[in-house]
Amino acid sequence: MASPPRRLLLKMSGEALASKSANEVLDPDIVNRFASELAHAVEGLGIELGVVIGGGNIWRGDRGAGESIERSASDTMGMLATVINALALQDAIEKEGRATRVMTAIPMDEVAEPYIRRRAVRHLEKGRIIILAAGMGNPYFTTDTSAALRAAELGAGMLLKGTHSGVDGVYSSDPRTDPSAVRYAKLSFMDLVNRDLKVMDLTAITFCRDNDLAVLVFDMSTPGNLAGALAGEEIGTLIR
Ligand code: UDP
Repeated sequence: MASPPRRLLLKMSGEALASKSANEVLDPDIVNRFASELAHAVEGLGIELGVVIGGGNIWRGDRGAGESIERSASDTMGMLATVINALALQDAIEKEGRATRVMTAIPMDEVAEPYIRRRAVRHLEKGRIIILAAGMGNPYFTTDTSAALRAAELGAGMLLKGTHSGVDGVYSSDPRTDPSAVRYAKLSFMDLVNRDLKVMDLTAITFCRDNDLAVLVFDMSTPGNLAGALAGEEIGTLIR
């Protein structure tokens, strides 16, 4: 096991927080499990952790866009959805005894702190988990791209992209339907583009490549995997 970089940025998709049946957009048992794994990993490994949280369990901008809702408004709804998830995660992590701060890219003073890079760094240095919500504050982007941006500006050693598909990493084809599918332990950003592997959106991939930011894609839905990824275990697929 390689020792993990000291500062890490985790991207959690919103759908990871939903119940399997998706009857509940936020499943308290799942949120509590993630909170416990995050709090214990930060404590045990002495790492600094930022979390960018998605909102797809509640709303995605492209869902209503072009039909009934104007795209910018729909994207704003998606960004607000990430704030709901962030508050749920904060509550659960604080119940584990670890201080957290929610910071939003859209100012909402009564709810959370605004995202200010220097302040975010200070929280990290003090051992607080920061949960970054509302993406970048701009429509037409995703939280994957937001996570890449925050990882770069906060000087994270790696971006951890947690998925919830049950598929551990990037495969040559879908292992759920193709038994001959093989998992790639390592890939380059150009491999992703050339093989049209759908790991993150192209904007995020390009940003990571241009800024030399390594990305670990792994499955968070398996208990223990989140802690393993934070600890630098060789799971998932490393893209660099
Ligand atoms: N979003 C946005 N700008 C951002 C980040 C997110 O407009 O900087 C919107 C976008 O509509 C997106 C939604 O917020 O669909 C929820 O984020 P995302 O789909 O990335 O969540 P995830 O799939 O990770 O749960």
